Amino acid sequence: THFGFQTVKESLKATRVAEVFSSVASSYDTMNDVMSFGIHRLWKDHFVRSLNPGRRPGGRPMSILDVAGGTGDIAFRMLDHSEKVSGDRETTVLCADINANMLREGEKRAIQNGYDPNRISFRVENAETLESIPDSSIDLYTISFGIRNVTRIPMALKSAHRVLKPGGVFACLEFSKVSSAPLDAIYQQYSFSVIPLMGQLVAGDRDSYQYLVESIKRFPSQLEFARMIRDAGLVNVGKGYEELTFGVASIWKGVKP
Ligand code: SAM
Repeated sequence: THFGFQTVKESLKATRVAEVFSSVASSYDTMNDVMSFGIHRLWKDHFVRSLNPGRRPGGRPMSILDVAGGTGDIAFRMLDHSEKVSGDRETTVLCADINANMLREGEKRAIQNGYDPNRISFRVENAETLESIPDSSIDLYTISFGIRNVTRIPMALKSAHRVLKPGGVFACLEFSKVSSAPLDAIYQQYSFSVIPLMGQLVAGDRDSYQYLVESIKRFPSQLEFARMIRDAGLVNVGKGYEELTFGVASIWKGVKP
């Protein structure tokens, strides 16, 4: 990979991720609710609230980039929050994802729910490169349940650093390691037996959900990922992360100096 080429293993992962999200796109929103008993909505609400997106008093509207934005869950919450909390109708969100099928579901939802097309857009982009996004142009970069699917995570973090303005914020919501051993035993049992089965019953697709469970297991620990964020040049203070629901998911933040 010295020359920026993908290894065979890496390109297999990328292909697998593309297949998984193409096949789950239409059932993705329902499955999230079924698998997490709706808890992912609370995590996403908390994530967005904690970032308080939108114009600050006397400030300018924000330019938000939601990477691996999929069907728009985070992007819609950003717009809702900035309008309700800050009365801001100008802040914009670009929902970027490598998978056009996921984005199409997002676009459908945007139209159905009457979102202003001047404030939300959908674009195919790879998190590793973010080719069409200029340097130092973004106030807030978010990635929710997306980073673990990226083939070369350090490259994605470098690109996040590149596109953020100085003082801009990086924020990641992702599945993490359950902190207590007894709870983890229950969680492992649930995720490895129940989730693939539900995938089969609800979406008729066992393999994709099996992949999702395995990708959660392979993702680095809370501390390791905090270190990767710092290695990319982002300032990540304190413990470096916030655990949600016993560490089933966590939030990491970083600021571009
Ligand atoms: N952010 C949404 C949410 O929280 O519900 C969607 C998360 S979904 C589990 C993961 C998304 O990551 C998929 O839409 C997938 O296409 C996208 N993805 C995977 N690899 C990517 C990459 N390299 N660049 C951009 N998006 C990627």
